[in-house]
Amino acid sequence: MGHALNITSSRFDRRALLRGGFAVAAASASAMSPASARAAVNKSGAKISLTDAHIAELQKSIKGTVILPSAANYDYERRVWSPSFDKKPALLVKVTSTKDVQAAVQFARAHDILTAVRCGGHSYAGHSTVDDGLVIDLKPFNGVTVDPARKTAHVAGGALLGNLDRATQPHKLATTAGVVSHTGVGGLATGGGQGRLGRKFGLTIDNNVGVEMVLADGSIVRANATENPDLHWAVRGGGGNFGIVTDFEFRLHEYDGVITSLSYTYPGSKAKDLYKVYAELSASAPLELTANGGLRTSDRGEHTCSISGTFLGAKQAGEAAFKAVAALGAPIATRIDQMDYVTLQSAADGGIHSDSFGYSRYTYLRQLDPNLVDMVLDYVTRAKTPRTSISIGMQGGVIAKVAETATAFADRDGIYQCAVATSWEAGQDPTAGQNHVRELWAMIDPMSTGGFYVNEVFDDPEDRVRKAYRGNFARLVDIKTKVDPTNFFHLNPNIRPRT
Ligand SMILES: Cc1cc2nc3c(=O)[nH]c(=O)nc-3n(C[C@H](O)[C@H](O)[C@H](O)COP(=O)(O)OP(=O)(O)OC[C@H]3O[C@@H](n4cnc5c(N)ncnc54)[C@H](O)[C@@H]3O)c2cc1C
Repeated sequence: MGHALNITSSRFDRRALLRGGFAVAAASASAMSPASARAAVNKSGAKISLTDAHIAELQKSIKGTVILPSAANYDYERRVWSPSFDKKPALLVKVTSTKDVQAAVQFARAHDILTAVRCGGHSYAGHSTVDDGLVIDLKPFNGVTVDPARKTAHVAGGALLGNLDRATQPHKLATTAGVVSHTGVGGLATGGGQGRLGRKFGLTIDNNVGVEMVLADGSIVRANATENPDLHWAVRGGGGNFGIVTDFEFRLHEYDGVITSLSYTYPGSKAKDLYKVYAELSASAPLELTANGGLRTSDRGEHTCSISGTFLGAKQAGEAAFKAVAALGAPIATRIDQMDYVTLQSAADGGIHSDSFGYSRYTYLRQLDPNLVDMVLDYVTRAKTPRTSISIGMQGGVIAKVAETATAFADRDGIYQCAVATSWEAGQDPTAGQNHVRELWAMIDPMSTGGFYVNEVFDDPEDRVRKAYRGNFARLVDIKTKVDPTNFFHLNPNIRPRT
């Protein structure tokens, strides 16, 4: 304890190479200079000692690459999606296989290093990066194998949603995934997995028929209906608490990929009528239709409202499914596009790293209560806070047909998801927007299910995680205590083991 990371570069390279044949990428090798050394810490923040021999040992044990702070690609590799988390890990381990993941976990445990696990890096709370710790970066480990006859896909723990969609759609098969293609399967499919196919085929976790995982003790296990069924139950909604999923097996559904995206925008003055129409539309919606009712305040404090969404089918049928919007009169903007599913799944991608900062709070609603709508509209109209929004999106369908105790994800009766959000650019003061989000959310929360989607955690208090799991929480704590008694995997919406 008490020693900073101590890596002596050229000495290290030569010795390591002489010792026998591991290939350190050029960028990583050049990283190993004493000048680039960073302190490494454990979970409690105490400094730990890492020597060049330790790093050499780690590199030798994996086929992937160890990246240290002075590597040319370190600044790129350490970035996560949200610019709010500009953290500087002591090292990143880019893994390529289950064995690599196992070696990285064993190394982290042996040296007691603070450890984050990263797939797509899209955690809103910055859970997949750390200052002065180790990041197990799964991104190079991203293969997808489809079995069209069995209608299943095996997906490596570091795959992105785009890898999954692009591999399944040529077979006219699909399973539910989120709406931005560079989001990681690893985080999305352990926490839940909402998307355009969700009402028809369930959450991503509802289509998970088995996993392979590396646990905190470094063991490799399988979990499915017959092997370690408790663990399989927990990893379908319990997030990254139980270990690192190295292989997901998903059930696939027949889907020809025809989809229509629709959006109708109106002046803010129509918001009350819009939510009435949206409530009717959503109450009788077919499973192919998924929509949002949104109200946003622009940079200049002006309001617009919209109904937007997708229909799994051709344009004409999509327009028919949204015909209730005719009651709102002529929109100020309309956009209707029929396209193929894979194209739409990346249409909102933007950059793999976001330049904008954001803050949101989420919850689920059992119904669209007119009192809630009045309260929200009253607040938003008075506040006029620039760059804020509220959106109420449809869940339900097949998602709501799964029993609350069938998977760890409990909020099955939350048939609407409500998001209150703000965004800002570097240099702008976010205070007014963040206060707006907190105040509005505090008004909405008592009328909600009390839960939220753990994959949308920001700075929510720990108690909300317990509430999100409802009656499933105690079972999750039991399983966590069994498989991760020291809470090694704690950078997530954390379920603490019993002490
Ligand atoms: C732009 C954007 C769009 C989004 N759209 C959707 C959407 O449409 N639907 C939806 O449901 N959610 C959506 N989300 C939320 C998303 O589900 C979460 O942010 C999720 O955690 C992202 O997963 P990741 O692998 O990219 O994140 P990471 O930041 O890499 O990881 C997030 C968490 O998952 C853990 N983890 C990662 N990989 C594994 C693994 N293989 N095994 C075990 N644990 C692992 C990490 O340790 C961490 O705790 C979106 C988020 C963003 C930023």
